[in-house]
Amino acid sequence: MAEYDFNAPRLFIDAPLREGERVPLDRGQANYLLNVLRLKAGETVLIFNGRDGEWRAEVSVEGRKAADLLCRERVREQDRAPDIVYAFAPLKHARLDYMVQKAVEMGAGVLQPVLTRRTQTSRVNLERMRSNAVEAAEQCGILSLPEVREEQSLERFLKDLEQERLIVFCDEEAPVSNPVDALAKLGNKGTRLAVIVGPEGGFTDQERALVAARERCVCVSLGPRILRADTAAVAALAIVQSVLGDWN
Ligand code: SAH
Repeated sequence: MAEYDFNAPRLFIDAPLREGERVPLDRGQANYLLNVLRLKAGETVLIFNGRDGEWRAEVSVEGRKAADLLCRERVREQDRAPDIVYAFAPLKHARLDYMVQKAVEMGAGVLQPVLTRRTQTSRVNLERMRSNAVEAAEQCGILSLPEVREEQSLERFLKDLEQERLIVFCDEEAPVSNPVDALAKLGNKGTRLAVIVGPEGGFTDQERALVAARERCVCVSLGPRILRADTAAVAALAIVQSVLGDWN
């Protein structure tokens, strides 16, 4: 892991980042830097926009409320999010916030809400998902923000998914067997992946059949206990990243 300055605050700024560029801050960001972190003029903030890598910037203050940042130098090149589609039945509020943040920290490249029969919510707040993804990226030194997609029915999701993409189907009714072996047998590093986790109420049998009917699909058990969906997200992505992803 490249040496990393975990002390400097990190901010996602949706603006082009170039040397000498003066980057405006919105009121929330200015308040956070000036009044919460109490940064003084000239102090360092790390900023990224998901396209131009990570930059060291200096705080320049105008009065108590307004501030902007001066881009000084690029400290990390832009990287690419892992090619993992994380598909999930959206949960309610705080649990969805948690699941989105963990999926981002675990390296999901795409967040795809999928509406299944037992999904408890039908409306997904994409803006809230995006701000949770930004928060996780800011806190964990992630440079490439995942793409947050519109919710889809399971049928539509399966139809639109690239044929060659291997679906890792986390099935709570799968017989307990080693998920690491199951993945290692079917995929290798660089395999394009999708991981799917169901709702609190689990998958129905016809949904199970729909997913399993897909050519490239491996059904994995996440052990002998039923995990809550947000726990399953972390467990599944940890196994996927360690066997087929960027953890090895
Ligand atoms: N009916 C149970 C299952 C829901 S768990 C319940 O009501 O709690 C939510 C999702 O997490 C499941 O659909 C599955 O995708 C995943 N999951 C949870 N435990 C699992 C396990 N032991 N093996 C595989 N997937 C699991």
